[in-house]
Amino acid sequence: MQDLTRVSIRSCYLLMCWFHLMGSLKEKNKQGDGVNKNFVAPSGMNTIVKHFLHSSESNIFFETHCSSINRLEKPGSDGQNIKTWQVTDLKEKNSEFDTVIVTIPTPQLLNLKGSIQDFLESERSSLESVQYSSRFALALYFDRGAKINVPWTCKYVTEIRVCGLYPWIQERDWVKIPKMLGPSVLVHTSVPFGIQHLEMDLNDVKDLIIPYVKQILPDLPVPVNSRCIRWRYSQVSRGVEGSPGCAVLCSSPMLIACGDAFTHTNFDGCINSAQSVVDAFSKMSPDSSL
Ligand SMILES: Cc1cc2nc3c(=O)[nH]c(=O)nc-3n(C[C@H](O)[C@H](O)[C@H](O)COP(=O)(O)OP(=O)(O)OC[C@H]3O[C@@H](n4cnc5c(N)ncnc54)[C@H](O)[C@@H]3O)c2cc1C
Repeated sequence: MQDLTRVSIRSCYLLMCWFHLMGSLKEKNKQGDGVNKNFVAPSGMNTIVKHFLHSSESNIFFETHCSSINRLEKPGSDGQNIKTWQVTDLKEKNSEFDTVIVTIPTPQLLNLKGSIQDFLESERSSLESVQYSSRFALALYFDRGAKINVPWTCKYVTEIRVCGLYPWIQERDWVKIPKMLGPSVLVHTSVPFGIQHLEMDLNDVKDLIIPYVKQILPDLPVPVNSRCIRWRYSQVSRGVEGSPGCAVLCSSPMLIACGDAFTHTNFDGCINSAQSVVDAFSKMSPDSSL
């Protein structure tokens, strides 16, 4: 059986918990409160995703945007019809799968082309009711040797009204920054800021955020580079009613929709959704060894 595997930035959070078991996260007791343990990924969050990709037996296709999903039925050698899913990407390349598990935000799911739309029909109104907040993130990159003198690594700034910011200073003893790189600051904007400026040009958004950063960090050196990104579908503010975890759109061939929209945004929401997919998959797939 082939499988369709996608990994996302948002999914990094989901993977983080398991990763310390594999030794790629370092326990950071200094910051612990005696009850909770904190972990850091010294070589960056991307190493968590890479670890799982390297240790999986899947063929991973990056930069592959699925545009349509169609059910195929063709005669098999034993006279029985073989049913599969044909997935087409933006470059018109077709691939066939026995099972497809789709974990994309619901507005994007509802926008996919092909016969998947027939299978979404019974779920349509509940999927349409899902709501997301939107966010911007601004990364500021500094020269090697630049100093950012604050006693914290991450801060939720509540005193700034319009734009709640939490810069992350990537310059701590437990973070392995390659020698040629300087520190960086990552700023996330608040939900109200996202609503107000969602359609604004990214350069204009950047110009709006920078004065807030300067208020919080008046001594910040001049960045050598910066990048602003828009998360249109950021965190789920209203999920699918009843939090079912996933929706089995078709049992043969199997087509499952899942993700945090079917539970709630956060680590445990992702785990619950993944668990419900495993349950649905193992219940309906007699060959499964899960
Ligand atoms: C800014 C931000 C901060 C967060 N902070 C935290 C936190 O601190 N702790 C926490 O637990 N959670 C946090 N979350 C939430 C967490 O990231 C999500 O709950 C989780 O990633 C949802 O996983 P998912 O697999 O359902 O969806 P996603 O991770 O969104 O995966 C969907 C992926 O599908 C891709 N995609 C969309 N359409 C297509 C298509 N047609 N073809 C191919 N690919 C497609 C998207 O590019 C994306 O990569 C945060 C989220 C955001 C945005």
